[in-house]
Amino acid sequence: MHPSLADTRPSIFWLDQPGASEPAEPLTGSHTADLVIVGSGFTGLWAAIQASEAEPGRHIVVLEAETAAFGASGRNGGFCEASLTHGLGNGLAHWPDELPTLLRMGDENLDGLLDTIDRHAIDCDAERTGAMDVAVEPWQADELRQGAGECDRLGIDADLLDTDEVRSEVHSPIYLAGLWMRSGAAMVDPARLAWGLRDAATSLGVVFHDHSPVRSIRRTDNGVEARTTRGSITADRAIVATNAYRKPLPRIRRHVIPVYDHALMTEPLSDGQWSQVGWGNRQGLSDSANQFHYYRRTADGRILWGGYNVIYHFGGRVGPDVEHHEPTTETLARNFFTTFPQLEGLRFTHRWSGPIAATTRLNCAWGTTHGGRVAWAAGYTGLGVGASRFGAKVALDLVDGGTTERTELEMVRRRPFPFPPEPARWAAVQVTRSAIKRSDRREGRPGIWLRTLDRFGIGLDS
Ligand SMILES: Cc1cc2nc3c(=O)[nH]c(=O)nc-3n(C[C@H](O)[C@H](O)[C@H](O)COP(=O)(O)OP(=O)(O)OC[C@H]3O[C@@H](n4cnc5c(N)ncnc54)[C@H](O)[C@@H]3O)c2cc1C
Repeated sequence: MHPSLADTRPSIFWLDQPGASEPAEPLTGSHTADLVIVGSGFTGLWAAIQASEAEPGRHIVVLEAETAAFGASGRNGGFCEASLTHGLGNGLAHWPDELPTLLRMGDENLDGLLDTIDRHAIDCDAERTGAMDVAVEPWQADELRQGAGECDRLGIDADLLDTDEVRSEVHSPIYLAGLWMRSGAAMVDPARLAWGLRDAATSLGVVFHDHSPVRSIRRTDNGVEARTTRGSITADRAIVATNAYRKPLPRIRRHVIPVYDHALMTEPLSDGQWSQVGWGNRQGLSDSANQFHYYRRTADGRILWGGYNVIYHFGGRVGPDVEHHEPTTETLARNFFTTFPQLEGLRFTHRWSGPIAATTRLNCAWGTTHGGRVAWAAGYTGLGVGASRFGAKVALDLVDGGTTERTELEMVRRRPFPFPPEPARWAAVQVTRSAIKRSDRREGRPGIWLRTLDRFGIGLDS
């Protein structure tokens, strides 16, 4: 075992702090509502807040299998980005004509999100630091230069940093270049954001029931009925915001699969260690290989370090049995010290993982069922902290039956290419993972498998 992992606890850093919302009573008996929302991660919470701010007095009930922030929303890196397309490159590849609109909507979404944090005084250490991609190989530096050209063309606030500039910003001997999107991202404490959103929704009159997994949703004469083990809600409409989890709409799994992403948290760095690292502007960082790390500073002086390997478990299994993967944790720890060799001796206190819901186009998909009475939004891949607010808004548009600028987007109207059924699904993911690794070893050049997937607009990422 890597020495830095000797005292690491299998525990989610963000949830290992006081301040969690008190769990609400589970649902018992039969009730009615105007809108029932299934899941209280970011998508469900944003759906509840935006629906009740748009229409005060609408009777909204949220049913959650565990408690708020149990899923990906309490386990992520806290990069809250404006991008709705899992980054600029993916947006250009899929929706080049729509991209200026998507960029505008993404900026409006991030502004609206930060405004809600302010209005409801949510204490989640939100800082609009921006995010910077760094190149650690020459081919990645070339790609960053191309990216800077696209930012220029599209009017995105971004600075290209050469080797000296990027190393003086953050002191890593392996950096060759950086592309810093200065205003397009904030860093947040995701658990405190989720708990704060839940409190805000409660103050707006939204009713929560925790430990109330929804087993089924069925159509009734006037709406839909969501059933849990001990109760039911009959509502006019429903939104399903369960992202990587299978129930209660298994059909989402045609387009959305759970892949596990892993993260580590260091102990707090001393002032001396921070002076060896620099990073005074506190921006979120990601390296630019196909298998990439994301990393950031926390408010209490630690470094969160995650990503690199995504793992799909046969049959799309999720849950505690599949959350620990020692080889991935070891690789993450070793790679940390390649980036920051001056921190040798630093230890990791927490390790954890969580299911990101991936689509073949790497961003959210939407759909309606039950005669249009139920809408779902899922599959942000690794970029849903900010985009989930937009995802929830689109789900509300869809379930309320309105035509809006959002519902007219090609990105919303067209579903991603579906995944094949098992066992082909598992095999396809493994072959793609190997091809991605090979491509990184060959200066980013895709082999025949990745080129074929590309032609169909299919990808796999975290
Ligand atoms: C390790 C990791 C790092 C990440 N890093 C980032 C990052 O830095 N930036 C970024 O933008 N994104 C990141 N992401 C992705 C981001 O966290 C997600 O896209 C986002 O949180 C999705 O929110 P959600 O509400 O849709 O899903 P979730 O947070 O997963 O919420 C779904 C909820 O539904 C509940 N549920 C499931 N089934 C039922 C049922 N039958 N009945 C009732 N409730 C049910 C679950 O308990 C859960 O609370 C990361 C994800 C992971 C796992």
